[in-house]
Amino acid sequence: MIIVMAPGNTEEELQAVIARIQQLGYRAHVIRGVERTVIGAVGHEDKSPLAVVEQMSGVEAAIPILKPFKLASAEWKRERTVIDVDGVTIGGPKITLIAGPGAIESEEQALEAARGVRAAGAELFRACIYSHYMTPYGGTDSTREKIEIIRRVRAETGLKIVTETFSLDDVETIASFADVVQIGARNCQNFVLLRQVGRLRKPVLLKRGMSTTMREFIMAAEYILSEGNSDVILCERGIRAHDETETRYALDLNVIPVSRLQTHLPIFVDPSHGTGKRHLVAPMARAAVAAGADGLMIEVHPHPDRALHDGAQSIRPSELAELIGQLRRVAAAIDRTI
Ligand code: PEP
Ligand code: MN
Repeated sequence: MIIVMAPGNTEEELQAVIARIQQLGYRAHVIRGVERTVIGAVGHEDKSPLAVVEQMSGVEAAIPILKPFKLASAEWKRERTVIDVDGVTIGGPKITLIAGPGAIESEEQALEAARGVRAAGAELFRACIYSHYMTPYGGTDSTREKIEIIRRVRAETGLKIVTETFSLDDVETIASFADVVQIGARNCQNFVLLRQVGRLRKPVLLKRGMSTTMREFIMAAEYILSEGNSDVILCERGIRAHDETETRYALDLNVIPVSRLQTHLPIFVDPSHGTGKRHLVAPMARAAVAAGADGLMIEVHPHPDRALHDGAQSIRPSELAELIGQLRRVAAAIDRTI
């Protein structure tokens, strides 16, 4: 339910409405706009306190949100969410590029990749610090060392860091050095982990689970929002449609216009995991921008042939630079910039 306060309502009236909502077992999320203050009341729909609240002083209207997701919905928040990642904007008219290797392999590899992606025009650096996530035999993780490498990358290049958290145990550690905390496709419906990152005051990039419907994907974002973290970035990375062997996943670009219509959250696309093949990354990246994506996440490795992880889908920094040139022209055609 959305409660629209009347223009010029007093703070006492607002607080009285919040108290009443909470008494009725709902959580209140307040958005103070320039002209209007709006309260999102989230709770069980079956005992909707619509009529009770509508009669309270200072309330203009109480409107039910029909979608199963509430705080993620465009009904609840009309303006699109714009996230400030330490000076880099996500979700505005400008399209944002996240690029970097699948995983940190060495300081040399990470720095070479980072310098390359920064020179190409990316503003955020992606890299996973674990090697065990695709198989239990991924080798010995020296997580602390990799965190130090990432810190050096950030200090030297100024790139903002996007890296993945895998469990409740490492959320705080990841959040201590990452600018954006990533939830991977495999954890898209790990609701306990989603709630945990919802308690952070750091942007979260939520990758779509390979078997989630669009609605389930947006509901996953709702778990993060419901804990008070309003900085959620959706990221399409391909779904499992059928036994396709030409591509790694089916990159579902439908989710771009659907999420833009139904939610206010920025939507990114990862054409690297979405295709699994280097030569498909650029065409699908161009298509994603044309379809309205707010940003891209692209795997870039200085030496893809030697990459320890996902080399087949990694492009070189020089290829990223060429791609960004093309993307600028696509973006201009739809009145956006990169
Ligand atoms: C990644 O981005 O490093 C990754 C593992 O992607 P996904 O979770 O989409 O498979
Ligand atoms: Mn990868």
